[in-house]
Amino acid sequence: MAEIISVVNQKGGVGKTTTSINLAAILSETGYKVLLLDFDPQANASSGLGLSKEKVTTTVYDALFDPGQVDNAIYASPVDTLSVLAASTSLAGAEVELNNVEKREFRLKAVVDKIKGDYDYIVIDCAPSLGLLTVNALVASQKVLVPVQCEYYALEGVAQLMQTLTLVGKHLNPELEIMGVLLTMYDPRTSLNQLVVENAKAHFKSLVFDTVIPRNVRLAEAPSHGLPIILYNPRSTGAHSYYQFTKELLHRVHA
Ligand code: ATP
Ligand code: MG
Repeated sequence: MAEIISVVNQKGGVGKTTTSINLAAILSETGYKVLLLDFDPQANASSGLGLSKEKVTTTVYDALFDPGQVDNAIYASPVDTLSVLAASTSLAGAEVELNNVEKREFRLKAVVDKIKGDYDYIVIDCAPSLGLLTVNALVASQKVLVPVQCEYYALEGVAQLMQTLTLVGKHLNPELEIMGVLLTMYDPRTSLNQLVVENAKAHFKSLVFDTVIPRNVRLAEAPSHGLPIILYNPRSTGAHSYYQFTKELLHRVHA
């Protein structure tokens, strides 16, 4: 049965999608069967693995309203054992449409329950919001991974995020655990970045992964080629750091 990890932070542009794509790709390369579940109407995880909107017909949106559609919404990726449950902009409508549906927080769980036997890991790339879609992702997951960008306002909003995780854990999914906090886009040339790392460690203690993802232009270029960093530029510092991070994550999973 798959280990299901949501990648969550309601702040935009902190590295959720970059982390989701590259974690999923490296887990696959390691030999696991992996599904990357794109649960953001921006559909960046889908397009970042070459699934442009022309190639994607059925999506996670369709599966939310008819779980029987899920197999039609799963696509192959450039990595052998990595599949993608694709999203499209239509998913934006679900945030409102789900409001009138019975058990509205459990719709994605119903989808995931149908397929979790087919994978070792399911990585869910969430949208920058704590709305109903993200709550659905949290209800469907066992673990939460929080990317935090090394910048001045890094910890702003984190209290609200933790409160949401606590509420979901209490009322909707008692299994839910925080797997860790990953610091991203680190720039060693600015002293501010070092300060953010120290603050994050003071705040989250051992939840912070030792691996810090540096700012690396190769990581930003890879999605425009529809490739994860391990295929686009496996020798880059970006690839190296995500390998290092995945190793650490596997350690935590198996600890
Ligand atoms: P959103 O909230 O909009 O979904 P996100 O949290 O998923 O954003 P990403 O899309 O992963 O964030 O990253 C934001 C931008 O920063 C992207 O253009 C991405 O390519 C770039 N980026 C992410 N991580 C790095 C990095 N370590 N080095 C350089 N660029 C990066
Ligand atoms: Mg994203």
